[in-house]
Amino acid sequence: MRPTTNPISDVGSLQAQPTTVSLFSRAQAVIPGGVNSPVRAFRSVGGEPLCIASGNGARMTTVEGRVLVDFCGSWGPLILGHAHPAVVDAIRAAASAGTSFGVNTPAEVELAEMLCRLVPSIEQVRLVSSGTEAVMTAIRLARGYTGRRRLLKFDGCYHGHSDSMLVSAGSGLLTGGIGSSAGVPSETAADVFVAQYNDLDAVGQIAQKRGNDLAAIIVEPVAANMGLVAPAPGFLAGLRAAADRCGALLIFDEVITGFRFGPTTYGQTIGISPDLTTLGKIVGGGMPIGAVGGRKAIMGKLAPIGPVYQAGTLSGNPAAVAAGLATLKVLERENPYARLDALTERLAGGVNAAARATGINVVCARMASLFTVYFRKEPAPRNLEEAKLAATKAFAAFFRKMLVCGHYLPPSQFEVGFVSAAHTEREIDGFVAAARESFTTIEG
Ligand SMILES: *Cc1c(COP(=O)(O)O)cnc(C)c1O
Repeated sequence: MRPTTNPISDVGSLQAQPTTVSLFSRAQAVIPGGVNSPVRAFRSVGGEPLCIASGNGARMTTVEGRVLVDFCGSWGPLILGHAHPAVVDAIRAAASAGTSFGVNTPAEVELAEMLCRLVPSIEQVRLVSSGTEAVMTAIRLARGYTGRRRLLKFDGCYHGHSDSMLVSAGSGLLTGGIGSSAGVPSETAADVFVAQYNDLDAVGQIAQKRGNDLAAIIVEPVAANMGLVAPAPGFLAGLRAAADRCGALLIFDEVITGFRFGPTTYGQTIGISPDLTTLGKIVGGGMPIGAVGGRKAIMGKLAPIGPVYQAGTLSGNPAAVAAGLATLKVLERENPYARLDALTERLAGGVNAAARATGINVVCARMASLFTVYFRKEPAPRNLEEAKLAATKAFAAFFRKMLVCGHYLPPSQFEVGFVSAAHTEREIDGFVAAARESFTTIEG
């Protein structure tokens, strides 16, 4: 195990440092809401958002010098934990050699080769700078390739913040969705059908009635942005069949799931090949990256060889590519997945046992190293409608209790927690003990 001592754990030397509260008040003056991404604002759980000075392994340290065990992992990229030496060394070496050139570098070719090798359904891949961009590109590509305009997505799946993906279910299944953000044109939203996750009947109806204008079906193969929601048996195979029947492309958005379930995509793991796959998070090792890949026949429609335009000044950025390559190499070499699975099962099993023992209505859902502690009596939800029934006030109380005793979770009921390869049974058992303790004080 790597050392978890923190270079700035000497609280005495920090007294002149700004505090979380003073920094947040400065931030609010110059950054809308004081954050650069909305969920960081802690709106759904209350309290001051965190302000972090550093991270190491499974832990991070606030500007006040408080050490927290991190179960958010920067929302997914940090499967190796904070500041993994191989990743930091790779970034340092890349940065020393120049941070950007705007032409090809050897490492980006190596990363593309590695992704194609590890994910056989990806014959060619284009690197971009975020998951949002990857999805935006996949959608334009699907529309350009099929010559069709409509899309099918699932309520509660998040695919970044491009206009056509900020759409939720409208009044009727076949009438298209409505923008879930101001500023999304209603015409854009109307082009997107929105079904409930795991609802193959709805997919069948849309494919049958509107399939001839459907460019793509896009899905998180394991939904991880409404809390963790597992695909029902047959759901993903059903999507593959529906897309084939109506000539639409199937896009697996694996920005979270890619390299989370094994050193490949989730689609590959279960033997279902989408036409396009989007990646991000882990493949950038904590640096900004995204990727879209698929069959050559489709990827070949991208500029400069095809008519679908896409570009990026910092695409394939040397430091980001170096971090991604280093991460994927460690994952391939050390194959931590069985251990991650066991650790996260220990966490979920422990939380569920604590819930039974204390009589609180809690169920911990888990797949691989993803988990959500749902405050609900029923089994884990199967779609957004069910997930929304969770007791969010109880979750907020739980979140705050866990934070007070040094465990940081994503600050919303509708997010997933992440276990990293830097976690050990000690951190997991600490989490379970704290959860059990908190359950005795929460009404749920
Ligand atoms: C995080 C995420 C995105 C967006 O990625 P960004 O890098 O934040 O733009 C897209 N799809 C899924 C499934 C995600 O989890």
